[in-house]
Amino acid sequence: MIAGPLRADAEPQATDIDAQVRRIFKVLLMQNNFTIIPFFHLHSQCGDRLYKRELIPASVACGYGEDAASGRAASSSLVSREGFCRFDTVFRLPAPTFAPIIIPAIGSRREAFRGRQGPMTNRIVDFHTHAFPDALAVRAMKVLMDEAPGIRAYLDGTTGDLLRSMDRSSIEKSVICCIATKPEQFESILRWCTQIRSDRLIPFPSVHPADPILADHIRSITDEGFAGIKLHPYYQDFFADEDRMQNLYAQTDSRNLLLVMHTGYDIAFPRIRRADPQRILWVKEHFPDLRLVTTHMGAWQQWDEVREHLIGRQIHMEVSFALDDLEPQTAREMILGHPDGYMLFGTDSPWKDQAQTLEMVEKLRLPPQTMTQMLAGNALRLLGLS
Ligand SMILES: [Zn+2]
Repeated sequence: MIAGPLRADAEPQATDIDAQVRRIFKVLLMQNNFTIIPFFHLHSQCGDRLYKRELIPASVACGYGEDAASGRAASSSLVSREGFCRFDTVFRLPAPTFAPIIIPAIGSRREAFRGRQGPMTNRIVDFHTHAFPDALAVRAMKVLMDEAPGIRAYLDGTTGDLLRSMDRSSIEKSVICCIATKPEQFESILRWCTQIRSDRLIPFPSVHPADPILADHIRSITDEGFAGIKLHPYYQDFFADEDRMQNLYAQTDSRNLLLVMHTGYDIAFPRIRRADPQRILWVKEHFPDLRLVTTHMGAWQQWDEVREHLIGRQIHMEVSFALDDLEPQTAREMILGHPDGYMLFGTDSPWKDQAQTLEMVEKLRLPPQTMTQMLAGNALRLLGLS
């Protein structure tokens, strides 16, 4: 396993390393239940980038390169500086050939580390994505893009493309939020959700507030074992605090389902206040046990009101479409000002890129504990998977 120091002229570019590490991660994340940081950096800047990108509070380091300029093991200093890593073992690997070496190295050590390292912590769950049946994806994406000029699609709207994006970003699981724009779409959405669900894709079906047999349909969702539903006040034409919603909240609450609701303004609609922070508070006050998850950091582009009314309260929120809209310092303050356990990672893919959203989270330089909880811990707990 021990190889000589790296030669400067043998260094691959950072992007090559990135791609190789990602491929390895894909294998590791699926096969191992302990935490590993494959650390192959050739100079500290590159290592730092990979390390931050992959967001691994590591307990084992499996490789590093020497700093090309100083000859020192820069990665070990980097990791210990961050306080994430206890170096049980360090392999020194020649970067261009690490891929075939590292996997057997990890395999042979798996048993040795199992049980000592605790649960895997390098997990990422995207709590807000969308996808469509393959046969409808092209049309659905076109309709949705026509309705929201200026919005861009990063994927083709299929579950296959979503999975490829998850692989590229080391995202383990994605919640797929469905929206029934008419009551009669309930059955077909439910059927599709049962077809596509897997360890990695967690679909949330949808009911329409005008559904005449709402209670039956919410029971069907529970009977099929889904964790939650998705509602959208603009596409489903409701206000979060209107009377007829109370039955829906009561039914959802009584079944202990999660309710992901689009909150704040929507890029595709006039700025009518349908699910603003005051209305969200109304829902929380009337249904304190309802497992409500708000989107877009509480309410999209109603940030001042979010800070005034929602931050600091026990209200779940995911961060999609917020981090590129807020000043990083403001986003950081909001996240740190929110109670532990209530902030979730979400991207709204395909309308945002999962990898780019992850990068924006990394740039906030949140404390490790906040980060691991936000990226996966809170989501897994809500989904009953932790
Ligand atoms: Zn969405």
